Amino acid sequence: MADFDFLIIGSGIAGASAAAMLAGRAKVALFERESAHGYHTTGRSAALWSALYGNDPIRALTVASRAFYDQPPQGFADHPLLMPRGCLYFARADQLGRLDEIAAGASALGIATRRLTSDECIALCPVLNRDRVAGGLHELDAMDIDVNALHQGFLRQCRSLGGDIRNDAEILTLERDGDHWRVGIPGGEVVLAAVVINAAGAWADVVAERAGVTPIGLMPLKRTAFLLDQPDGVDARDWPAVIEADEAFYFKPESGRILVSPCDETPSPPCDAWPEDLDVAECVERLQQAADIPVRRILRAWAGLRSFVADRTPVIGFDPASSGFFWLAGQGGYGVQTAPAAGRVAAALALGEDLPADVRALGLTAEQLSAARLGGRG
Ligand SMILES: Cc1cc2nc3c(=O)[nH]c(=O)nc-3n(C[C@H](O)[C@H](O)[C@H](O)COP(=O)(O)OP(=O)(O)OC[C@H]3O[C@@H](n4cnc5c(N)ncnc54)[C@H](O)[C@@H]3O)c2cc1C
Repeated sequence: MADFDFLIIGSGIAGASAAAMLAGRAKVALFERESAHGYHTTGRSAALWSALYGNDPIRALTVASRAFYDQPPQGFADHPLLMPRGCLYFARADQLGRLDEIAAGASALGIATRRLTSDECIALCPVLNRDRVAGGLHELDAMDIDVNALHQGFLRQCRSLGGDIRNDAEILTLERDGDHWRVGIPGGEVVLAAVVINAAGAWADVVAERAGVTPIGLMPLKRTAFLLDQPDGVDARDWPAVIEADEAFYFKPESGRILVSPCDETPSPPCDAWPEDLDVAECVERLQQAADIPVRRILRAWAGLRSFVADRTPVIGFDPASSGFFWLAGQGGYGVQTAPAAGRVAAALALGEDLPADVRALGLTAEQLSAARLGGRG
């Protein structure tokens, strides 16, 4: 008999959310290679919740996550998981058409936005350069996420429902033996699991290869971020997240500082990603053309891997060709904001249930998420 019904590989936000939703309904293990949960992409995000961000399946998962954020289970967190932020997309005169496209997409989804004049943009973020801002679009309901509270809440929920969570527990080997997997971890230990859930982030295809499963063609893309001081005498706390209309860069207030990202997407092998000085320097130049933010020093810079498959939709569901192998991968740049719904979807499908009714009502189907849609895969 297997030791576990579900062994989840990787304790980032994806694995932790699925573990929390499955624990209590099945015997669950959550094994993480690193000594710290959230060491990789989950601990490196910009912590933004925006219903406008991503393709239609992402938007459905984001909207379906909102109820959990607003009303998490009792005892999940001791303060709200979301804080009002708002997103301001700003455009030069030659980019105003892009604002129309974003606004049309928002209104088709019933997302509240407001078109702004350049004066109104500058009222929201006074450091914007007037000659670089011809207009804007304000997504009023965008939020800051307390990522650590969300992640720790999922881990606590899993643990309190009997889940076995381990660090320094890299999944080294996976061998299907009848109706279960024999899973090798460091120290020569072998555990048995009926189903493995592959939530290994940028390493999801590496894990598949270890299990003899066809990869999904996952592409880890590096994204950089860095922190600056607020300009002297300026209180930036109430600024929205400010995003250039073509997503050439964005900046947002972050714990008394300003977080900036060049929105880079540099292909990378799965690794402990590191920022390049050149990416930071080029972004500083773009930022300073658009906004009056003196850059005396970079307080901290980091990079993380946002992992996508070809259609940029996550892969959630059993592998169509490999018994007991379940994918929870390809969260791209949206894995935090979508985690509550993605975890619920993963738990339902792993238990052989339909997609949750609220997710179906938003037009999402299991087929859109399945690895089967990827045909010959990567
Ligand atoms: C700069 C930046 C900004 C971002 N901004 C946002 C944002 O504003 N909003 C948003 O929603 N998302 C954002 N994202 C994306 C978000 O961070 C990711 O989608 C999300 O964190 C992915 O979570 P994950 O659990 O899949 O991956 P990870 O957090 O990387 O977790 C995967 C885990 O699997 C473990 N693992 C790998 N192989 C094995 C193995 N063999 N055995 C055991 N463990 C293994 C790894 O050690 C890792 O801890 C951003 C990302 C970056 C880099």
